[in-house]
Amino acid sequence: SYQSTASAPAVLYSDPTPPSPSQPPSQYNPLEHYVPCLAPSCNKHYTSSLLGPTFYLPQQPHQLVRKKAFCVKCANQELRLANHKVKQTFESMRQNAGRKTLGQIAVEFELWKEQFHQDRALEAKALIASQKKKVLKIAGSINNQKEKTPATPAPTNNDKNDESWDWRYTPRPCTRKDCKSQWYSPFDNKLYFLYHTSRPSGLIPLPTLCPRCAKTDVEAAEERMEGRKNEGTMWEQWCEEVRRDREMEVEFWEKAQERLVREEG
Ligand SMILES: [Zn+2]
Ligand SMILES: [Zn+2]
Repeated sequence: SYQSTASAPAVLYSDPTPPSPSQPPSQYNPLEHYVPCLAPSCNKHYTSSLLGPTFYLPQQPHQLVRKKAFCVKCANQELRLANHKVKQTFESMRQNAGRKTLGQIAVEFELWKEQFHQDRALEAKALIASQKKKVLKIAGSINNQKEKTPATPAPTNNDKNDESWDWRYTPRPCTRKDCKSQWYSPFDNKLYFLYHTSRPSGLIPLPTLCPRCAKTDVEAAEERMEGRKNEGTMWEQWCEEVRRDREMEVEFWEKAQERLVREEG
């Protein structure tokens, strides 16, 4: 297994110091951290920093390479399907050979395979390009101009086709008043776990606060929950409200963060 998700030692929760960003914002390259999988109908994120050194090398038996821009599970699945297609094509060439010799079939198959490799390489290139567009903020790019056009096309159900820049992968400022922490990204390799894993309380640290403030905030919320535990059935309802309020809080503050991230640079 190349990547382990969601299972982390409980000891992380009691770690007194929150993790800090991998790099200062000026050196932060979102592509080296958690990025979205571009396989259709997959919503996962993955980081190439957790992949083994052979992950993108040609694989036996047909020397096919895994698709970059796909998460581990999707890349493995796609490779399996591609290998299957190679095998099937060879079988069908043999069955429909007519009066061709085995040598002729072998040559045809090699030609087909070469084309297949080329097609896959082109597909991979396009996928990498659209992942870059989604993750990297490029000053003055079409993405930013598109923002200002009032006649935006109707949103589609499948936002995989939406290649525009998603601000969330770029470092953002903490929304706690007077906090001077450096800008951070919840998709940072070192911070992803903190911001994307439910704690035993069911709460997730707010992505709109820097690691330190997020940790203080979630611990305070958990303390308040603990403090009212003796309220019986009311308690669970109240906890549910706390969770909902936090979701709304994220929605509200992310708008403010987005504005600042877009204005920057
Ligand atoms: Zn995936
Ligand atoms: Zn902060």
